[in-house]
Amino acid sequence: MTGKKTIGVLSFQGSVEEHLAALGRFPEVTALPVKTPEALNRVDALILPGGESTTISKLLSIFGLMEPLRQRILQGMPVWGTCAGMILLAKEVVGEQPHLGVMDIAVRRNAYGSQLDSFTANETIPAVLGDPIPLVFIRAPWVERAWGTAEPLLTLNGHIAAARQDNMLATAFHPELTDDLSVYRYFLQMIG
Ligand code: GLN
Repeated sequence: MTGKKTIGVLSFQGSVEEHLAALGRFPEVTALPVKTPEALNRVDALILPGGESTTISKLLSIFGLMEPLRQRILQGMPVWGTCAGMILLAKEVVGEQPHLGVMDIAVRRNAYGSQLDSFTANETIPAVLGDPIPLVFIRAPWVERAWGTAEPLLTLNGHIAAARQDNMLATAFHPELTDDLSVYRYFLQMIG
């Protein structure tokens, strides 16, 4: 990565502090909470945290960020959606209206069902790291379909749990709730 980069975390609701803290562990990164179009203009890349996708989506509209954010993503700004953030990115949300609707994936909310509401796994994501990393799932969605240039990065029990499409990264799990920084390193490479 060349020069210091400013990475924003959409800061309406959800695991915002955890993402800001993880970014704070990279000396080459300035981490910025984003709630306004002005703050969005200042970032080189953005993380959409986990939380409740319907709530975050409403706040994006109320704060006038939905359309500016969609445009930044379409113009190529690197963006990473974790869990609810992945739902925000998807062009299709099974049985519901999409939100930002920018990524060629169809997601199913709360897909892992009541028994597996929350669980952890250790899996290797070859594009990210050659070794297994801890994955935390909390009422997580899965990706039912990916098309176009969207590529699955991890399939878990027959369902896609991470995908990449050009400048967009989506993970059903929460790296910000573990000590492992490898998915952050992968995202930093996308920022270049
Ligand atoms: N179940 C939440 C939703 O549908 C996502 C959960 C999460 O982000 N941990 O928005």
